Amino acid sequence: MGTKQTITLGLDIGGTKLKAIALQGNTEILKEISIPSLADQGPESVRKAVREAVESFKSAQIPFQAVGIGCAGSVDSARGIVRNSPNFAHWSQINIREWIEADFQLPACVENDAKCAVFAEWKAGAGRGYENLVLLTLGTGIGGGLILGGNLYRGSTGTAGELGHLTIHADGLPCPCGNQGCFERYCSATAVKLQARGISPKEVFSKAAIIPEYQRIIDTFIKNFQVGLVGIANVFDPECILLGGAVTDGLALYLDQITAWVKAHAFPAVAANLSIKTTQFKNLSGSLGAALLAQEL
Ligand SMILES: [Zn+2]
Repeated sequence: MGTKQTITLGLDIGGTKLKAIALQGNTEILKEISIPSLADQGPESVRKAVREAVESFKSAQIPFQAVGIGCAGSVDSARGIVRNSPNFAHWSQINIREWIEADFQLPACVENDAKCAVFAEWKAGAGRGYENLVLLTLGTGIGGGLILGGNLYRGSTGTAGELGHLTIHADGLPCPCGNQGCFERYCSATAVKLQARGISPKEVFSKAAIIPEYQRIIDTFIKNFQVGLVGIANVFDPECILLGGAVTDGLALYLDQITAWVKAHAFPAVAANLSIKTTQFKNLSGSLGAALLAQEL
């Protein structure tokens, strides 16, 4: 596969919604749907939602050849298994690839949503043309995805790229991963909201000019964020770091300042070769990346 005419489905299973697209080639979306994912009702309900989504493309007589699925959490893509996911609180070790193979007799793949996102940006978005690309999604936590040497990098267990769990403070804030001081405790939408006592990051960023406390929260956020970015830049030596997720719109105003600091503190050769940009795809990145990964099957 991988020709221009290949049609694949990309499903993004979220905590409340299942988004799905039919994709022809790299960019042509033939149909897009969103239905409840039923993630809180257990695996059989999610399987039904997946089946309903795929059936709707069959009903529309779209001749898709493979299905890609993106999902938050720890994914063993080699075996098609979601080990565990924040969206599926009470179940684990689910072979989602088998659902598609058994219900539709089609090739399928399952991948972590941030890896889907970096793959989508690399193939069709803001990351096109780079050999080495890092993506950070600043949302509930920080998702990470890596393209290294012109390939999606998974590590030995599929876990590589968990950049939200870089320790940036020894003895820092506790993290649900079991560690403490993780990057995402300081630089996610959740972190901003916690410090602003429930005020949304959007409001914190938009009112920072008139509310000094919000500006202080942002200044601290940026300070921590820059430190994390310098570490990431020095470790991976990428041509580009892409920023996506809920906090990115607010951060856009500070992007030049952040880039300047990171370049001043990273290795000179790394700095000279590095750009920091925002992602092209917003809510579509998970399903688009999943569909693009399915084209490689
Ligand atoms: Zn952590």
